[in-house]
Amino acid sequence: MLVDTHVHLLGHRDRPATEANIRLFLDAAVRRDLSLIGFADHEEYLEDMRPDLLRTVALDYPQLRVLVGVELDYRPGEEGRLRAALRRHKFDFAIGSVHELTGRAIDRTAAEADALGLSADELYRRYFACVAQAAASGLFDIVGHIDLVKIFGARPQTATAADLAAGALDAVAAAGCAIELNTNGRYKPVGEWYPSPSLLAAAAARNIPVTTGSDAHYPEQVGREIAEAAAVLSAIGARRPEKFGRRARA
Ligand SMILES: [Zn+2]
Ligand SMILES: [Zn+2]
Repeated sequence: MLVDTHVHLLGHRDRPATEANIRLFLDAAVRRDLSLIGFADHEEYLEDMRPDLLRTVALDYPQLRVLVGVELDYRPGEEGRLRAALRRHKFDFAIGSVHELTGRAIDRTAAEADALGLSADELYRRYFACVAQAAASGLFDIVGHIDLVKIFGARPQTATAADLAAGALDAVAAAGCAIELNTNGRYKPVGEWYPSPSLLAAAAARNIPVTTGSDAHYPEQVGREIAEAAAVLSAIGARRPEKFGRRARA
């Protein structure tokens, strides 16, 4: 059973949520043999989302389970904003992602991440502290790309990434969230999936459920490397989420 729970129909507002565009994504999912596709557009585009249309078009794809979620940007202290975003549509699930620290994007350009003026160790420490807060907020079903902080190749020097992530993983486990094996990292400067094998093993050791996501922003990226990722998860005996969807969990 191949599952891709991280798909951006709207990309970065590259296209509208029309029936034709939805079909491009669902056709791609069928071609990749997915049994479940979860749309999770960025919260900036809440007004452009058309969950009802997605669900209607999905009726033509009975072999595919289609979920409508959202990828929320977690910033400490903005839980009220996130709750309002979650109320805007009837979402099946929510991905919580840390994309920035103190107002600066950590994943846009290396220069912007460098402008934080932090050593790699400190960058990791602050990033994972924020991830721990995100998990503890209880707002999310899935923590997105849990070691995104490595995107430009920054590696900690005085401790391992798994050590620096331990508190965040404990918070994820305590909150009952899943993480994702996000295959998109291979196409970023770091050149590897999120999370790294050591973090994935640390998550599996805590019995944290792990889903798989392509982070596709274009139809041809739907399901990319998902079969490979699923094979990795079964090889390490990772727990997979039994159910998807907030309504299932609630
Ligand atoms: Zn993201
Ligand atoms: Zn994403």
